Amino acid sequence: MSSDRIWFALALVSLLAAGCATQPVVDVQPGERPPLESEEAGFWMVMDRVEERVRTSGHIVRDEQLNAYVRDIFCQLTPDYCNDIRLYLVRSAYFNASMMANGTMQMWTGMLLRVQNEAQIAAVLGHELTHYLRRHTLQRWRDIRAKTDALIFFQLATAVAGVGIVGTFAQLAALGSIQAFSRDMEREADLLGFEIMTKAGYDPREAPKIWEMLIAEKEASNLPKGSIFFASHPTSQERRDTLTKMAAEYDSGTAKLGRERFVEMTARYRGDWLRDELRQRDFGSLQVVLDYLMEAGANPGELQYFQGELHRLRGEEEEDDEAKAVEAYEMAIDTGGGPPEAHRALGLVYWSAGRKDEARGAFEAYIEAAPEADDRAMVEYYLQQFE
Ligand SMILES: [Zn+2]
Repeated sequence: MSSDRIWFALALVSLLAAGCATQPVVDVQPGERPPLESEEAGFWMVMDRVEERVRTSGHIVRDEQLNAYVRDIFCQLTPDYCNDIRLYLVRSAYFNASMMANGTMQMWTGMLLRVQNEAQIAAVLGHELTHYLRRHTLQRWRDIRAKTDALIFFQLATAVAGVGIVGTFAQLAALGSIQAFSRDMEREADLLGFEIMTKAGYDPREAPKIWEMLIAEKEASNLPKGSIFFASHPTSQERRDTLTKMAAEYDSGTAKLGRERFVEMTARYRGDWLRDELRQRDFGSLQVVLDYLMEAGANPGELQYFQGELHRLRGEEEEDDEAKAVEAYEMAIDTGGGPPEAHRALGLVYWSAGRKDEARGAFEAYIEAAPEADDRAMVEYYLQQFE
């Protein structure tokens, strides 16, 4: 699941300068680094530099507990490669995960928000690991190099890096093929990823569920193409169906989910991740995410609060968003477990609807529920307006 065009292009440009001796592709061995003179070493050197930028980026999640948790799942999944892969959690909305040739793996918090258990995380980790093990970036480079003359290729690579402007149709067509791993590579990553997760005892029926949700999300999305993830993953339906078939054939008698531990480890971050999604204003996509989370069952009060936020921020009359927002906030308050902001949000909706008494009640309840809130003075100011 490659995500960053610029980085990929940097690697491609560097390879043009490096030698191009061809060798058959064999799996990366534990602890292996490509020999200095090799074609692959050029890739790795650029990736190492890019990784330095990733490491120091403000988007990287520094929380030690969460990092240790995901890393632990990875290392149990594949102890031999535990030290070869650096796993970076990236604070970002939407589902995405990616692997660079040198073992730099990125996982977005939008992915952690959407998965339901450790088995689903394991499916993604196994898939990404396969891109690394099978040297898919190197293979991709060789495929493209074989089809494209070096000069055009160089122009493409710089264009992808944002240096130049792509002009001709041929360039555009080739550009599309650079952006993603091939379909065969994605199939291979699904297949080996499936083997890796089942070998570690995880329930394989969880793998297609990720696709199920992403397909539903894409259909409901307000964005023209859905999330960035789909730009590099064109055959979601086929992959879901293949994984479903594989899971049905697999005897998963005692397969584990790791649901309880997952909820325990991620629950405290979920509110922040949902706020990230809200900021995208992609309400169709967010509704699918909320529906899946509600079905899974953890902390419904919190989810009702975000359901209310969705309605309040969308605010469309024909969707009856105002009444739905009130209903969701009230449910969040009755259920408990949601943030105190549910009271404040309810107050705002009542206020804009001209229901002053109810607005006052909601603001007062907010101050009572969160007496130390940073915006207390602001809410007290609102209350004065009702005098
Ligand atoms: Zn992939």
